[in-house]
Parts: sequence; structure tokens; C-alpha cells
Amino acid sequence: MSHLAAHISHTRLIDTHEHLHSEQEFVEEGPDLLQDLFDNYVAVDLLVAGASEDAVRRLLDASDPDLASRLKGVCDAWRRCRHTGYGEAVCLLARQVYDIAEIAELTPAQLEAAQARNRELRRPGERLRLLRDVANLDHVQVDNYLWECPPDTSGPDFFLYDLSWSSFCRAKLDAPAMYDEVGIAVEGIDSLRRAIEALFAKHGPLAIAVKSQHAYERTLLWEERNDADAERALLRQLGGEELSEGERLCLGDWCMARGVEQAITHNLPFKIHTGYYAGTGRMPVERIRPGHLCALLMRYPKARVVLMHNAYPYSDELIAIAKHYPNAYIDMCWAWSIDPYSACDTLRRTIHAVPSNKVFAFGGDAWWPSASVAYAAQARAWLSRALEAEVNDGLLNEREAMAYATRLMRENQLDCFDVAGRRAALLAAM
Ligand SMILES: [Zn+2]
Repeated sequence: MSHLAAHISHTRLIDTHEHLHSEQEFVEEGPDLLQDLFDNYVAVDLLVAGASEDAVRRLLDASDPDLASRLKGVCDAWRRCRHTGYGEAVCLLARQVYDIAEIAELTPAQLEAAQARNRELRRPGERLRLLRDVANLDHVQVDNYLWECPPDTSGPDFFLYDLSWSSFCRAKLDAPAMYDEVGIAVEGIDSLRRAIEALFAKHGPLAIAVKSQHAYERTLLWEERNDADAERALLRQLGGEELSEGERLCLGDWCMARGVEQAITHNLPFKIHTGYYAGTGRMPVERIRPGHLCALLMRYPKARVVLMHNAYPYSDELIAIAKHYPNAYIDMCWAWSIDPYSACDTLRRTIHAVPSNKVFAFGGDAWWPSASVAYAAQARAWLSRALEAEVNDGLLNEREAMAYATRLMRENQLDCFDVAGRRAALLAAM
């Protein structure tokens, strides 16, 4: 292993994006062996590789004790996708967590032994141990789709939570839930504004960031909206009417702007899903471009806007945006497993185009901790490859490459997110 690769493997990596299930879910309904291996992004590759929906459903059905048959149903598809980024991560998971060399050749006895290991893992504290000690993560930032960000007693200074703003950006407003949360009845645009401020006053101080993945439901194209237009849409929605797409976009843009303003007030970066979709058969590539957010970046120069997933396949557009706008950051979360060569290429272009304070190296974007362990190992391996190529081409010396790695893996996140402040606030709130 080169000095550079050793440095990357020893450096405590900050994980800016996961969807991790809670400790209780992990212990009580955690994944069995085959779920642990395959209930992550690779399941989609299996479908695209020709596995039937039934075969994948059976593979991931832990109530069926016949591990060998469940695996056999997807074996041909698995062989076709084991070299994709998602497939590579499964191989890393198998090796690192279960000491399995070759999934497709597992004997029933080996399957039983790995399943026994799986049962040992699903114990209190193992989720934290896998992430902190095996993946060597500093902390993880979790989007569990909620506004609330209370201390997580399974690791209060390790599991830091995003305040979810997705439903607002999609104009899926839940007035009763807002009333329950902050005691403000939303009856018009002024009370909506006050409810939003109250939500942030309540949950902002313990959040690590604001997060929205509205790109799954609507175009990222944002424009400034006035109160009168937004209120017209709001009143129709409160009256139980179905909004037109134009009205949804108007109200969603208005709510997004208020969220960005509150993020600035509460010193929170605003994370936005850009680019590639999880799943299969539903991605309209035009609406996921990061360039759709330029008006927002111009309107809010004091915001810290984190553009996630390398905006793949619009990574070049993202590089141009991060180079141009001081308030835009590149987050490589999930990108290493979607298309590792593209991620390497994006990183190398970024080194020579964008100041080094603008990039975050990693987020696994996973639900179970073993998958995050694998995605972290994969990110380290490909980050090493990209930086070693820079050294081999004489563009960076090894010391410079190590310094770049440290920036990307943790220093930039510590500068952009108020990690120390939020950790102190969470411990104080316990
Ligand atoms: Zn995600």
C-alpha cells in the first residue's frame, strides 16, 4: 500500500449522507445475511441485469429461511453486475463484514456460518461499532426524512440528523402536522411563514443541515415567487383541491426559499439531491441538472448550498457551478458507487478547476450500517486511485495529495458544517 493509500485508509472520514435505520430497527428488525448483502443499491442493478421482481423480492425476504434458494434465484443477474460500482460494494461488504470471498460460490454450510455471524452483528452497539470502528467514520449525517433532530442515544455525537425540507419543496404541506409540532394554524401565507420559522426555531439548533430530495418529484428549476401567487396555491391546497403542476412548483419554490433563509439564520448548510435517481425506470434526466439552481445560488449568496451525488451525469456542469459560485459545494456522496470511474474523473477535474475547500468526499446513502462500511471502503479505494493517478502524472506530489485527501475527507466538512457546535448542543440536550 502506498503512503497515500495508507493515509486515506487511516484518516477519519466524515460521512455527510446516510438514511440509516435507527438502532432499535437495526436490533429488532435488522437485515438477515442476504438482506445485509443485497438490500442496498445493488438490488436495482439485479433487476436491470434481468432478475425478475419476484426473484429479487424473494432474495430480500428474511422470513424465508432457505438462503441457498433465495440466492440461487438471482445468481445469473449477480454475475452480470458484480463489476458495477454497486456490485463492487457488495463484494467489499461480503469480504469485510462476513469474510466471504465469492458470493456466487457459497456452499450451504458457508451460508449458515455467515448467517450466524449476521445474528451476532444485530446486537445493541454493533451499528455504531461498524460505522465508527470498522468504517473509521468521524460521524454520520443522517436524513431520516423528518423535521425532528433529537439526540440519538445510540451515539449522540456520532449520529447527526438533517432537518428534512423535501415535503416543503414539493409543496406537500401538512398543516395539521405543523400545528401539532409548533402550535400555529396555517391559514394563509403569513401563518405559513411563521410556522416555518417556528419549525426551524424548534429543530434547527440540533440539526446538522437541511436536506431536500425534491428532485425525485419535480424539476430542480427554481425561481423566485411572490407571496400573492404562493398564497393562491396554498389556499387551494388548504381547501382540499388538487394543485396544477404550475401551482405546486410555485408554492414549492416559495417554501424552498423560506427554508434557505432559515438555514442561513440557523447557520445550517442546505443539501440538495442533484443528478441520478435511485430505483429503475423513472429518471427524466433533464429535470435533475444542478444548473436549474443557479437562480437560487444568485439570490442567496450567504447560503451554503451542498449539491449532492456529483450531480451525475451532469458532473461537468456541477464543477462549473462550484467554481463560479462561492456558496456552492460538491458532495461526492453516493457517486463512487454509482459510477466510480466518473467519480475519479470528476475529482481529478475538480482538483484542477475548483478551489480545494469546495468538495466533500463521502456519504454512503445507505440504510444498513454494513452497506455504509462497504461504500466507505469503496470511496477510500477509488479516492486513492484518483489521487495516485495525479501523483503518477506528476500533477501533485505525494504530500500534496495527502493534504488534499485530508481536506476532502474531513477538513472541508468541519469548515462548512458546525460539527463541534452541533455536537455540543446535542450533548447538552441529552
Ligand atoms: Zn439519499
